[in-house]
Amino acid sequence: MRWQGREQSSNVEDRRASGSRISGGKKTGVLGFIILLVGAYYGIDLSGLVGMDTAGLGGTTSSSAKLSAQEEQSLNELSRVVLRDTEKTWQHYFSKNGQKYVAPTMVLYYGATATACGTGQSAMGPFYCPNDQKVYLDLSFYADMKNQLGAAGDTAFAYVIAHEVGHHVQNVLGILPKINRVQQQNPSQANALSVKLELQADCFAGVWGYQAAQNNLLETGDLEEAFAAAEAVGDDRLQKRSQGYVVPDSFTHGTSAQRLQWFQRGLKTGDPSQCNTF
Ligand SMILES: [Zn+2]
Repeated sequence: MRWQGREQSSNVEDRRASGSRISGGKKTGVLGFIILLVGAYYGIDLSGLVGMDTAGLGGTTSSSAKLSAQEEQSLNELSRVVLRDTEKTWQHYFSKNGQKYVAPTMVLYYGATATACGTGQSAMGPFYCPNDQKVYLDLSFYADMKNQLGAAGDTAFAYVIAHEVGHHVQNVLGILPKINRVQQQNPSQANALSVKLELQADCFAGVWGYQAAQNNLLETGDLEEAFAAAEAVGDDRLQKRSQGYVVPDSFTHGTSAQRLQWFQRGLKTGDPSQCNTF
């Protein structure tokens, strides 16, 4: 992806200096799991990492140890550039409909951080908190994607950010609060509705990808990277990886095939109105 030297978002809150570089091992795992359940209930995104915690990814190494200083600097810049691209993409669509897009803030942190949705843990993966309209990102997630999920590359990481911003778009459009209410009223439908929310966020990420392609920002192999990332975070793939078998009723993000399909739909059409997963 062409991102070096391009315009960066100013909607970034960098908490990395104040964060603990050591994540809390097993304790993080348990706490992360509790937050994960809360997250599933309130529609906070955990980016397909259901099962990853139990797969032993719950912070056995410090966050900073996973990345070289150079990698971290690159990811820092990449994230800010991608966030800026999402701002332009969504400003465009909102203004076309006579609306104003209020962009989310991206919080960069290490290990753990306070959010309006409870304590954020890097073991949960990147997530969006609708209560403070912030996307939380520990850059070391890139190392997890690469080493644990086999999804490497700048475009794979960009897809993750675009997906989280997709949840913000759902929030400001009123979709997220509405679906969260229905989930609370019908707990038996909560997982199925969560899958629809996630697939829509994937489709919205595809809309970002469409703009990136239009602006000639994608290079050979970039889309394949993003496709691989979308597939890597499918519930079936993650469950098979963590527990060896798949329980479809417990899916909260959709299968690899579904995630890829909806991402590609947004990518092909560039049209958010094509992203109605409900
Ligand atoms: Zn999500």
